[in-house]
Amino acid sequence: MAKRDYYEVLGVNRDADEEAIKKAYRKLAMKYHPDRAPDDKSAEEKFKEAKEAYEVLCDEGKRDAYDRYGHAGVDHSAAGAGGAGFSNFADAFGDIFGDIFGQGRGGRSSVYRGADLRYNLEITLEEAAHGTETKIRIPTHEACEACGGSGAKSGTQPTTCQTCKGHGQVRLQQGFFSIQQTCPRCHGTGKVISEPCHACNGAGKVKKQKTLSVKIPAGVDNGDRIRLSNEGEPGVNGGPPGDLYVQLQIKPHPVFERDHDDLHCEMPVSFATTALGGEIEIPTLDGTAKIKVPPETQSGKVFRLRGKGIKGVRSHTIGDLHCHVVVETPVNLTERQKELLREFESISQKDRDRHTPRAKSWMDKVKEFFAA
Ligand SMILES: [Zn+2]
Ligand SMILES: [Zn+2]
Repeated sequence: MAKRDYYEVLGVNRDADEEAIKKAYRKLAMKYHPDRAPDDKSAEEKFKEAKEAYEVLCDEGKRDAYDRYGHAGVDHSAAGAGGAGFSNFADAFGDIFGDIFGQGRGGRSSVYRGADLRYNLEITLEEAAHGTETKIRIPTHEACEACGGSGAKSGTQPTTCQTCKGHGQVRLQQGFFSIQQTCPRCHGTGKVISEPCHACNGAGKVKKQKTLSVKIPAGVDNGDRIRLSNEGEPGVNGGPPGDLYVQLQIKPHPVFERDHDDLHCEMPVSFATTALGGEIEIPTLDGTAKIKVPPETQSGKVFRLRGKGIKGVRSHTIGDLHCHVVVETPVNLTERQKELLREFESISQKDRDRHTPRAKSWMDKVKEFFAA
């Protein structure tokens, strides 16, 4: 039988994205799923056809080869057309069907990928900017040493479950459908343990802590995730483990605030320096920098230091550091200081507008407002 076009099989356009392909496959697989129509040969064929199309089109490399050379361009034996039948179903289900059939298909022969896990990791702004390597400890399950993972007391063996005859699943009639359910007695394992192992209470696994090393690249930001492949929950019945996602959270910094690749900081400058001008030293993530404050600098003025921000993990350039001037009102004044300021103020009063540009423009606006 000539093969149908994979796009036609899934009913998607040639430019369909991965999401659309997944969705189309999911729909077909739901329809032709052998649990729904266990004895329907044509459904089985349709399911295989859809699965093969999906496996090619969801793989960038295979899809590219298929687009160029058609069926000849892809390796069919790897795509499951070699007659492997339904025995290797589970891996197709593991990733995209886990959520639909996950609980119901708990049989002995079903293989699932383990669940992905998330770990929240707090790092400092400096660590985010420069990158770091850190160790995390996560809880994990390991096979129990006392019973070798069987869950049965040493010297005994688990026995075949009589409820499901070792299949791990029982069939229930529900309306038109015959539905497979996980055996309630053995919970899908097909075996029962009459004398449980004392060390693990029959679970076959024990809780442990494992230490993992996490490499954090320079330039990461809040919410970035680092994937540690295969460090998630173990798979079921020999399935591959899930992944561990380390989600990064950056602690608030006492001086800098981050805005993507840019940094912002407040820069208190004395009243005299802002008036007369001067040079001040400010902190940066890599040390210090000098800023020339010109005479008559006003509060709120922002100085931008190019390239003193952060080089984002996906950026090609380095961000800037923005220093926001805050004019410092002097405190704890001595009598002498007060005297000088009073004298200064009284001299300034004589030609007030000339020395207070902000107050002048502000007064003008107020007058306009009341005149209107
Ligand atoms: Zn044990
Ligand atoms: Zn059972």
